[in-house]
Amino acid sequence: MITIDLHTHTHYSHGANSPADMFAAAQTKGITLYGFSEHSPRPLGYDYPKEYREHLTQHMPDYAREVHDLQKQYPGQVLFGLETDWMDAEESFIRTAITAYPYDYLLGSVHFLGTWGFDADPADWANLSDEACAQHYSHYFTSLTRMIRSGFFQIAAHLDIIKIFSAERFHAWCNHSDNFEMVRTGLLALKENNMALEISSAGIRKLCKEIYPCPRILAAARDLNIPITFASDAHATQDVGRDFARLESYAKAFGYTQSVWYADKQWHSRSF
Ligand SMILES: [Zn+2]
Ligand SMILES: [Zn+2]
Repeated sequence: MITIDLHTHTHYSHGANSPADMFAAAQTKGITLYGFSEHSPRPLGYDYPKEYREHLTQHMPDYAREVHDLQKQYPGQVLFGLETDWMDAEESFIRTAITAYPYDYLLGSVHFLGTWGFDADPADWANLSDEACAQHYSHYFTSLTRMIRSGFFQIAAHLDIIKIFSAERFHAWCNHSDNFEMVRTGLLALKENNMALEISSAGIRKLCKEIYPCPRILAAARDLNIPITFASDAHATQDVGRDFARLESYAKAFGYTQSVWYADKQWHSRSF
């Protein structure tokens, strides 16, 4: 059974619940090691339609304090992380964000191509040509590989989130070996940087209705012996540990029996 959830949010970004409520939900779902990975602050100009930048920036000290209080109250059960936005042009901003607190681990996520937050609005993708989609996929994997090679992060979050609103076209793109080579380059970079690959149930709740990453990518990761983590990406109590039975059989089908976690950036593993 999966007992670790390393990707979760709170009401300090655009989530619904407090750290204490999220942790309490985890305890009712058999999660014995709970990772908080609130969103990172973002520079001006990287905007979502429903923006929460000011709210998040203002409350980062509260986030840190409340997670630390839970760590004291429940020793060995709570990890303090950050889901960090990778933006190609913002390396020094990112460096400042990840060193602001002593995080146990950092998720690296690409949600922006240039300044476009591509995962917010399906309408952005509705009228794109196959060529335009292909350009976005290429851009995404180039940026993802840069994120990995930065050496800043422990875990690559939702590795194929770029499929979020165009899953069929994404899989057709992956079927061309030249394209998949771009994905494989990212996986090789993960291996070289001793990073883990996240298996996330969040995609099941999105338009693509699929686990991140897809079977083709997970098979290639397994061939490289890349370690995995499990994630719900919960933004509300009802999604903590969501669909973990499905994630467990998915990972086991590829031969995985252990997942990893990080305390003070040091990795540990646990059977599931
Ligand atoms: Zn994310
Ligand atoms: Zn997230």
